Amino acid sequence: MFDSIHEECGVFGIYEIKASDVAASVYFGLYALQHRGQESCGITVCDDGIFRHKRADGLVSEVFSREELDKLGSGNMAVGHVRYSTTGGHNHNNIQPLVIRHIKGNMALVHNGNLVNAAELRRSFEMSGAIFHGTSDTEAIAYEIVRERLSSNSTEEAVEKAMPRLKGAYSCIVMTATKLIAFRDPDGFRPLCIGRTSDGAYVVASESCALETVGAEFLRDIEPGEIVTIGQEGMQSISTNCTNKRNICIFEYIYFARPDSVIDSISVHHARLKAGELLAKSSPVEADIVIGVPDSGLDAALGYANESGIPYGIGFIKNKYIGRSFIQPEQHQRENAVKIKLNAVRESVVGKRVIMIDDSIVRGTTSARIVRLLREAGAKEVHVRISSPPFLHTCHFGTDIDSEENLIAGKCSSTEEIAKYIGADSLGYLPVECLGELVDNRFGYCKGCFTGDYPVDISGAGSKNKFDEKIHR
Ligand code: SF4
Repeated sequence: MFDSIHEECGVFGIYEIKASDVAASVYFGLYALQHRGQESCGITVCDDGIFRHKRADGLVSEVFSREELDKLGSGNMAVGHVRYSTTGGHNHNNIQPLVIRHIKGNMALVHNGNLVNAAELRRSFEMSGAIFHGTSDTEAIAYEIVRERLSSNSTEEAVEKAMPRLKGAYSCIVMTATKLIAFRDPDGFRPLCIGRTSDGAYVVASESCALETVGAEFLRDIEPGEIVTIGQEGMQSISTNCTNKRNICIFEYIYFARPDSVIDSISVHHARLKAGELLAKSSPVEADIVIGVPDSGLDAALGYANESGIPYGIGFIKNKYIGRSFIQPEQHQRENAVKIKLNAVRESVVGKRVIMIDDSIVRGTTSARIVRLLREAGAKEVHVRISSPPFLHTCHFGTDIDSEENLIAGKCSSTEEIAKYIGADSLGYLPVECLGELVDNRFGYCKGCFTGDYPVDISGAGSKNKFDEKIHR
């Protein structure tokens, strides 16, 4: 019904000094990370070296009742994961945490991101007799670590040796019988941070908003290339794979992350306000009201209004209660069904010249429907402003940005043509040169889906469902 973009995963882990209800802590953390993946989730608890886990399709609140959490029992460590399945497709064996029993012990792994050389790694393992259960690239990461573990003194040493062979995006947490090991790829595509509770528990999460749900205070981000080990001796860091580069996904700030998160010392809310301000400077237009498309367009709309002096208003109400069980409408029902999820506030827009801010346009069909909602509600003019540059290329690092032939900006020859397609009176995008200002020009970032210039070589990346294709042949 909506051609929106999805982040593929969120990860969460906790290390307590004494055994406690760690499953519940992970539940709350995953709840805060639900926006990063809504199709499946899982939790693995470590209780004195024994692993218990539950993984299933559904939202965190659908999969885990109090009874289910009780079945996981108490422990001093746990990891959890929320997933949106694109790469690797929808397959029960792809639901994380991935639990591996190898010759030196147990290991649970959660991963956010995508490797660009996963197919190559997998093929080399398969040629030496390895059997893969799922189709996600997370299994290839697990095999690399386990292979190195055989000749290493510790799992963190195995991770350190495996990392140079993993190309692409990976923010991971590994849980062994005695410690948590969190690591982030040397480009730092996806976020990963650490917090601490007042009673001494360490928490690792994809976003800082999840730390607060378990009463943890933000300590710091895990640096690109860094390995952080949390065990009985406290927290230790290995930085041999760190470089000076940083290429965080700029779209985390524009759309994926929650506005109350802070990533690599930059507030997501601040970045979105800034995007709106820059958009007001680069694409001004006379109008009566600025509105945002919920949720990620709201902060940018406020920024646009602040900069332009045009009043900010509430233009839409979003129904937040559409879960997985919502019956997908037939084609002929879609125009009305869109209003179940999003509806215009007539009193705000009737008879007015409206500036509507959204985070992106993918295929253009959703934008066209939303513009139509405003016109039906009586808007006199609709000027669309987008808080990112046009999508021209796919993403290989853990999101489902569509293949190039489906992106409207690639199909149309001008911004005016896209404006006409979506039924807007005018259209303006954030210029690509402005992206650095969202992070106060403090560090490098990935902008590959806007420019085609990716921070790592993507020649081995292949298609989104590379493993499924192979299996179906
Ligand atoms: S290609 Fe785009 S969505 Fe993918 S990591 Fe880079 S900026 Fe983010």
